[in-house]
Amino acid sequence: MIPFNKPYYSGDEKDYIAKAMDTKTLTGDLEIIRMCESFLENKYNFKKVFLTNSCTMALEMAAVLANVGVGDEVIMPSFTFVSTANAFALRGAKIVFADSKIDHPNMDENEIKKLITPKTKAIVVVHYAGIACNMDAIKIITQKHNLILIEDAAQCIASYHNNEALGTIGDIACFSFHETKNIHCGEGGFISINNPSLLERAEIIRHKGTNRAAFSRAEVNKYEWVDIGFSSLPSAITAAFLYAQMEQIDSVQKKRIGLWNSYFKNLNFLQESQKVQLPSIPEYASNNAHLFCLICKNEQERNSLIEFLKSKEIQAVFHYQSLHNSPFYQSKQEGRELPNAEKFSNCLVRLPLYFDLEVKDVDYICDSVISFYDCI
Ligand SMILES: *Cc1c(COP(=O)(O)O)cnc(C)c1O
Repeated sequence: MIPFNKPYYSGDEKDYIAKAMDTKTLTGDLEIIRMCESFLENKYNFKKVFLTNSCTMALEMAAVLANVGVGDEVIMPSFTFVSTANAFALRGAKIVFADSKIDHPNMDENEIKKLITPKTKAIVVVHYAGIACNMDAIKIITQKHNLILIEDAAQCIASYHNNEALGTIGDIACFSFHETKNIHCGEGGFISINNPSLLERAEIIRHKGTNRAAFSRAEVNKYEWVDIGFSSLPSAITAAFLYAQMEQIDSVQKKRIGLWNSYFKNLNFLQESQKVQLPSIPEYASNNAHLFCLICKNEQERNSLIEFLKSKEIQAVFHYQSLHNSPFYQSKQEGRELPNAEKFSNCLVRLPLYFDLEVKDVDYICDSVISFYDCI
């Protein structure tokens, strides 16, 4: 069986974890954590990075930093992972779901405009598959209405909007190092703070609501509870594992982009003959090869394709169930239809893409997809 995903290992993880264990200190604001954070700041030009235990946690911290609460509205796509919405629902905010574009799961900037009210406080964009949303257009909206812009950049490591790394554009951005992402540490992530006015509070929130960071710089003579907060620091074990992965990011990206291009080369004719749709990548967006997906004509065809591939020993999977139709949200929704989000929920299929996959595997998977379309 070709699995849908295999977590990447660089080979240096055990060695780096052993070195971390030798220091006999596994918790706190450690050198290895700062090494990971600096690596990201230097390579992608983030102003300030704080590692977290997940992207979900980074989103929950973002919701606190954005000061979102009861009575506020937050606009985000319906076609996204549950954590994007849950982080803001936890604060009591009203989630307002926007539809996807017709040719890509990313949120449609023209839909956002229609949903803005005096209660709107923040916009959360999700760059699906590491492909940038139209940030120039979205920034015009957030500036005009004085809204906080948050990027759910969970899938976006090493991806760009024009020349800016994703996650450097909004006030706050949240990334994931879950094992399904391009590089990972099992469970992990980070928050990037781009708006300097949020920095001081971010440092407090990450330290359980205390001014511990200021204390460790000897700026205060004791540390105290000053705000709400999170236990957000990963252990040295996790950071050591992550650093071993980060060092190899360029070779990981090279391999993944090569595999993605093989998929595209083999399957693009299916799009040209209008058998499937491939998500369109705008000229302002780079492709970090986080995932390769096809959009089938309807749900039945998509499910048949997944079954067919299973019979060929290939694990292909669908993706998000639109959140506006979820059991939790159904009673809260206003009955607005989001046809594009629903289409992607029903018709999108992701094909295997991971570091250990070989071009010959991609060729086999593509031959199988093509033989499915030859038969129907
Ligand atoms: C993976 C993912 C998350 C959650 O990441 P965790 O690190 O598992 O919490 C959130 N949003 C999107 C878009 C994701 O792809």
